[in-house]
Amino acid sequence: MIGDGMGLSQLSAAIYSSPTPLALEEFKVIGFQKSYSSSDLITDSAAGATAFACGVKTYNGAIGLTQDTLPCLSILEEAEQRGLATGLVVTSSIVHATPASFAAHQKMRIFYERIAEDMAASGVDLLIGGGKRYFDRRNEDDRDLLAEMQARGYLVRDYFNGDLDQVKPDPNLNFVFFTADNQPLPVNQGRSYLAYASRLGTEFLDLRGKDKGFFLVIEGSQIDWANHANEGKLAIQETLDFDRSVGEVLAFARRRGNTLVIVTADHESGGMALEQGSKQGRVKPEFTTNGHTGSLVPVYAYGPGADAFAGIYENTAIYSKMRHFFGWDTDQNSALQLNKTTTQTLNN
Ligand code: MG
Ligand code: ZN
Repeated sequence: MIGDGMGLSQLSAAIYSSPTPLALEEFKVIGFQKSYSSSDLITDSAAGATAFACGVKTYNGAIGLTQDTLPCLSILEEAEQRGLATGLVVTSSIVHATPASFAAHQKMRIFYERIAEDMAASGVDLLIGGGKRYFDRRNEDDRDLLAEMQARGYLVRDYFNGDLDQVKPDPNLNFVFFTADNQPLPVNQGRSYLAYASRLGTEFLDLRGKDKGFFLVIEGSQIDWANHANEGKLAIQETLDFDRSVGEVLAFARRRGNTLVIVTADHESGGMALEQGSKQGRVKPEFTTNGHTGSLVPVYAYGPGADAFAGIYENTAIYSKMRHFFGWDTDQNSALQLNKTTTQTLNN
């Protein structure tokens, strides 16, 4: 689970703004990771997510590529190839940098339509987020990726025809739900699906993954955007919204007993601090920048394998710790490669 731009100050502001404890306060294993990229001490979300997805430091703006622009097999793609169920649930468009880095390979994060092509071909079992127009009303070609996905057995639905909670996904089919044509609304303008989608996502993928299990990425995408806009109140609201999603996932993990939950951020943004004059219930977050910062960011872990996430380590170590948890780093038979489609898209 990734709170984009959710550093320690965003967490502090949310904790002191909430009358009740946050779900994040329930974690017992906490670490810090170094978020820098190969090109810059201050990472962007593309390099940040590629570090989690592929275990490599890459340049700012790279989607699922090494710093030499070679495609890297992401842990989501590896999970897919190994027969696990996989999913991406976000509050940005689904082709935005964070989710894209797990299921696409592109030289620049702004290649949204090519990212959509990669995602449509990725075989991912569950997609929930905005960005419908990059799939079915494209500028670069006339393809309808949603029709293509439907033809390959996806159930495709969107907010035009009703809310997410009106749809009952069939665990025998992959499922895509678009929450917006481009970017979903901020939480203070009525966006409210993340907690529900997180619960739906865990339960759906649990059924779909059968005895093999699942790998799910959930992103509170817009904490970062509130930080960029230096809107402290909104950053708190977005953090609390993400925390409700964390609460749903923790509840699932407790019921299930064998799920590793990892919550972190790709980086801090805004350089937020709680200023003098702040009070419990009335904090005054202030910002030092409109951009990202280089502060270490917290990692929270729960469940079997959680202990490995204590300490201070590179953001790329999240990838290797997750693979270790799955037991894949000792699997001698693994000769997994990017499928041809993905590489072809990149070369086009
Ligand atoms: Mg993001
Ligand atoms: Zn940002």
